Amino acid sequence: MRRFTFHHTLSIALGLTLLGLSSLEFVVGCGPTAPDVAEAVVSVSLTAPLHTPHLSEISYLSSASAFPVLNSAAREGTVSKPKILAEIVETGSRCLAISNRLTTDKQMTDSDPATFHDFTPENPRFFVEADILQRFQLNSKAVPTELNAIMALSIPEIEKLTSQQFVKIPTKTAKEFLTQCKAIYSEASRFISNLPIKAAMGAATRDIRPWLKLRAEQQHLFSDLINQIAFDSPAAIHARELAFDACSLGVTTEHVCDLEIQQLIENQSIEGLVNWVHTVLLRGEKKYQSLFQISVKNPIIAAAINADNTTLLTIPFADVSETLTNSVSRSIATYWNKLETLTVNPLFYDTFKQSAVINFTSIPGALTKTSAIGGNQITLDKNADHSLKINQATLAHEIGHTMGFVDCYVEFWDSTLPGFVYYNLDQTNLMCSLSGHIQEIHKRALTQTYPAKPISFW
Ligand SMILES: [Zn+2]
Repeated sequence: MRRFTFHHTLSIALGLTLLGLSSLEFVVGCGPTAPDVAEAVVSVSLTAPLHTPHLSEISYLSSASAFPVLNSAAREGTVSKPKILAEIVETGSRCLAISNRLTTDKQMTDSDPATFHDFTPENPRFFVEADILQRFQLNSKAVPTELNAIMALSIPEIEKLTSQQFVKIPTKTAKEFLTQCKAIYSEASRFISNLPIKAAMGAATRDIRPWLKLRAEQQHLFSDLINQIAFDSPAAIHARELAFDACSLGVTTEHVCDLEIQQLIENQSIEGLVNWVHTVLLRGEKKYQSLFQISVKNPIIAAAINADNTTLLTIPFADVSETLTNSVSRSIATYWNKLETLTVNPLFYDTFKQSAVINFTSIPGALTKTSAIGGNQITLDKNADHSLKINQATLAHEIGHTMGFVDCYVEFWDSTLPGFVYYNLDQTNLMCSLSGHIQEIHKRALTQTYPAKPISFW
């Protein structure tokens, strides 16, 4: 079996220290789904720029700290095959470089967020080392012969290829292969990038599925408890187990649940059990609902009521560059201005004149993120093309954070796998998924948090 060669030092480094739990952004899950394309030949035009933007879905890796992370994970024994993981990342970054060279085919680099696979609580995404390694082994057998020679080159070498040197690759073959290897790259790097914060990502207080299960079963659970009043009846034991699994959602420490179940067993009261199940349901509900709300008000956002009784929300941004202001305006128009009764209006200011604005920092390869919920600092990947659909969605999601919305996707470390689990709570919601959009709940939260000042008549 052929394995990709790994003799070049990485010129693309990885970005891990930027990760913050509340503001962690990435294109979750798989790489873009390859649309059906006719068998055609891609050739690279002579006018294509040599340094085209990196694909944003994996560009969060491109800062300098992933390899130290991988090395320390290897020392701790957290990963079993650090060398192969590093090799996957290297292979993926070469895939990326090839994609970038194939830039004349816009479809190769722009993917519609709506076509992404979405990961629901029933069907989560797993980031497990063993799976990543296995998929890499399967995938590395399938290098199209046309791509073999290129895959052996280093990234700078690929970027320097002229159209004459660049082999002609059937679009479909190239797309399928590049999509596959980018997906593995994305998976491996996601796995690596989360390792340093693994300890803070315990399943108990983060996994919402046990609570969703309890909520789904609550009706028959309560009727069973009323019918079978013995504390040790099968129905009561079942209810106790379900509620215990769901108990840690919304509590400060898991210890609370141990104390609660202890007390319950001491009392042997079916009424106590019913009350406890209610408590667990309500506490979880509060936590669950909070994931769809604005948690922090941003004082620089202003609201007004238009003459036609619609709401106008004004967000001040730093006037950075024409390209970026265009991308921001377009992203807001596409994602935040979809409700007839709400208009979000970006205003761009010279920061010398107006300092209370949302600022952008562009760092090559940076992970897209917002400084805090309700924060005024959005970090962007300088290499990314922010007019691409996927980046437009990401930008809109970040703007949601500046307004104070939290993430409604869930990610945690599952020690039984062992690996990371990811799912979102509503794929039609922009704050949960990049294939989502604005909903009435966003409008309600916005108009409650940013009440319009009454128009004063003097
Ligand atoms: Zn987010």
